[in-house]
Amino acid sequence: MNLHEFQGKQILASYGVRVQRGHVANTAEEAVTAAKQLTEETGTGWHVVKAQIHAGGRGKGGGVKLAKNLDQVKEIAGQIIGMDLITPQTPPTGKRVNKVLIAEDVYYPGDSETSEFYMSVLLNRATGKNMIMYSTEGGMDIEEVAEKTPHLIFTEEIEPSVGLQGFQARKIAFNLGLSGAAFKEMVKFVDALYKAYVGCDASMFEINPVLKSSDDKIIAVDAKVTLDDNALYRHADYAEMRDTTEERPIEVEAKAAGLNYVDLDGTVGCMVNGAGLAMATMDLIKYAGFEPANFLDVGGTADAKRVEIAFRIILKDPNVKAILINIFGGIVRCDRVAQGIVDAYKNMGDDIKVPIIVRLQGTNADLAKQIIDESGMPILSAIEFQEASDRVKEALS
Ligand code: GDP
Ligand code: MN
Repeated sequence: MNLHEFQGKQILASYGVRVQRGHVANTAEEAVTAAKQLTEETGTGWHVVKAQIHAGGRGKGGGVKLAKNLDQVKEIAGQIIGMDLITPQTPPTGKRVNKVLIAEDVYYPGDSETSEFYMSVLLNRATGKNMIMYSTEGGMDIEEVAEKTPHLIFTEEIEPSVGLQGFQARKIAFNLGLSGAAFKEMVKFVDALYKAYVGCDASMFEINPVLKSSDDKIIAVDAKVTLDDNALYRHADYAEMRDTTEERPIEVEAKAAGLNYVDLDGTVGCMVNGAGLAMATMDLIKYAGFEPANFLDVGGTADAKRVEIAFRIILKDPNVKAILINIFGGIVRCDRVAQGIVDAYKNMGDDIKVPIIVRLQGTNADLAKQIIDESGMPILSAIEFQEASDRVKEALS
């Protein structure tokens, strides 16, 4: 689950990570109230108005702006709220901004004593360890740094059962060129950041930039936080942080139905049990010369009800010209799945206007084919992978 910057910062702050403070606002008026409140709390005169969308590169797209007085806060917030913000990480049409974060200016006017660093915490799947990636080249595109000056990116691997060791935090502060008070602050920052990463069951933190202010404070100015969906049950309080307006509506609906669904650009809808078979099915479609319209894993229980829900979700995509159902009957028997498909089809009547190709393999596959062929429904059946591929070609040519 991806979080907004303001939510990520809330979590970081709760673990003692120093963050650029701020308040979220839904309207230009609320932005002014937020700015006034922030001035009372922090003494800041200048404010940064930051678009809250699930995408980075907002600064470049005009979604992060400095306001030097309350009139500017109102004006800028008014411009940013409601805009379709286009950044290198959004779709080409941009993302609608519904909220802004009004944050304290931490760069202080005319300040040349600041430095910006990059820091992320993530899982290195190859070694099974957590990893802190960091760089002196903060505030800019890390992909570009990785390409042009890879020697300026450092990594520190952390054994999860042991945790971050003091010497590791000191090494990071040292490699970032810090000394004195800033060095100590960075050690504390890294320690708190790692505790937050483990504590909230994140799968990724990316803080870019981490700022060293002129008074040697280390501050998370940005926060990109992704939580591990599989651990969300341990954090009931984070559930409300989900912003479904950031997700594709069709994917939200599929998730609510317990289906693993990812919307894609092609024309052949897929209904498959098991993620591996779903991947293979997408390959099969490409091999036949077409593109998959989705990834859909219906899971173990492919009964009539689930099949019908899956049908309805796939058919919401207007690009779908055919549906390929590819089910392996291992635990679930193919004849039961076949009956489920036939029942769902009957139930949906005229709602299905595209050809359906069904490939059932495994226990009772022959019986399943018979059920489909004798159902009187216009469903094309197959047992072998190649047959299924040929049927898709026939249906679409
Ligand atoms: P991103 O563009 O989506 O990564 O958003 P960031 O939160 O990283 O903000 C973009 C840029 O805005 C940062 O790299 C900073 O240069 C700038 N910025 C952020 N906070 C402040 C601030 O308090 N004062 C000033 N002057 N600039 C800021
Ligand atoms: Mn950033």
